[in-house]
Amino acid sequence: MANSLTQCLPGGRPLNPPRVVVVGSVAMDDIVTPTACRSNQLGGSASYACVAASFFTSVGMVGIVGSDFPAPFVQRFRRAGVDLRGLQVVPGKTFRWSGVYEKNMDIRRTLKTELNVFADFQPALPEAYIHAPFILLANISPRLQLHVLDQIRNPRFVAADTMNLWIQTEAHHLRRVLARIDLLTLNESEAREWTGYESLSRAARRLLAMGPRWILIKRGEQGSRLFSTQGLALMPAYPLESVKDPTGAGDLFAGGLVGRLAQGNRIDEAAIRRAMQAGSVVASLGVEQFGLERLWSVKRMGVDARIRDFRRMVGWR
Ligand code: AMP
Repeated sequence: MANSLTQCLPGGRPLNPPRVVVVGSVAMDDIVTPTACRSNQLGGSASYACVAASFFTSVGMVGIVGSDFPAPFVQRFRRAGVDLRGLQVVPGKTFRWSGVYEKNMDIRRTLKTELNVFADFQPALPEAYIHAPFILLANISPRLQLHVLDQIRNPRFVAADTMNLWIQTEAHHLRRVLARIDLLTLNESEAREWTGYESLSRAARRLLAMGPRWILIKRGEQGSRLFSTQGLALMPAYPLESVKDPTGAGDLFAGGLVGRLAQGNRIDEAAIRRAMQAGSVVASLGVEQFGLERLWSVKRMGVDARIRDFRRMVGWR
């Protein structure tokens, strides 16, 4: 029996739709890096993306956890202002994922994925979320992403993220998702694997033909590339001296991007580029510590300061 956490945003706007609704996984992660390991860390694509978006706008989470999900994690989300009306709590164990990073952290192996309560997850949007203007379908089965798309009414902007697992196992569902979204984010290796093209420009053209207005290809510390039918925009990554835990970087990037876009009124290439800077900066802050540790203590001012720093570095005014 599902039980939704009846949480209101601080500032009391319980009936208003959040500007951004994020659907994705909420997980307990075990992470091993070359220098450290952490168990039972708060993870999941929706967790990272919601916290990133919460720096810029109001955000509601759609996800599922088991009865073992620690209360302090719920408190953390609440303190970050994340609206949890769409988070189902059901008897059983929370989704668990474990991964290990090799030497220079750019290779990751998944050790174990235990779906647990996630196996029977049917995302059900609370009434208040149905009219949210911005939707982020964070990394989750495309079948579930479609289920969310079927429930929302007239969104202004829908973004989706994906991963190699879904490209390999559910490409037909993923194609249906692409036909209904504005922007897709994926890693360069995923873009190549899906299309069979080595050239990212050709791969992006192929993906654009499937429906989205924008394809955003993530390239780790090489930054990202935004493709549209109008052309190409390049975005460097914020340079870091040390990365402690890259887990969730893609989700932070997507959450920061959609959150920043939802903060403004325009949805065009210039606005998306500005939002990419925000996504990139939030991701850079996140990977400096394990899990979400760093982001719990960062304030909006800290994010803005790094965005200014970033813009100065790349010569944008
Ligand atoms: P990223 O580093 O951006 O790929 O995101 C890592 C996060 O995704 C971790 O916190 C995992 O809990 C979560 N994750 C890993 N595999 C899956 C999956 N198959 N479906 C949904 N979330 C996943």
